[in-house]
Amino acid sequence: MANYYCEYCGTKYSSVTLLTGSSCHRHPNGPNKGKHKLYEGSEKRTYTCKYCGTPYSSLTLLTGSACYRHPNGPTKGKHAPAL
Ligand SMILES: [Zn+2]
Ligand SMILES: [Zn+2]
Repeated sequence: MANYYCEYCGTKYSSVTLLTGSSCHRHPNGPNKGKHKLYEGSEKRTYTCKYCGTPYSSLTLLTGSACYRHPNGPTKGKHAPAL
């Protein structure tokens, strides 16, 4: 069975319906200010930040760390996964 991950926080769901229907604690507008967003890339052993290239072993770790090359300014936001 396929797993679906949130692009903002890395939370895993068994269906897209469940994922997009739940509030995201790492939503860019603020904690629980919006729903999870489907990560459209494939499951990987290593996820890379699309802004700075830092590799992480999980989406949860990647999206939980501040990015020093974030478009809003250094460490003004979290890493975002490349597809
Ligand atoms: Zn989320
Ligand atoms: Zn980054």
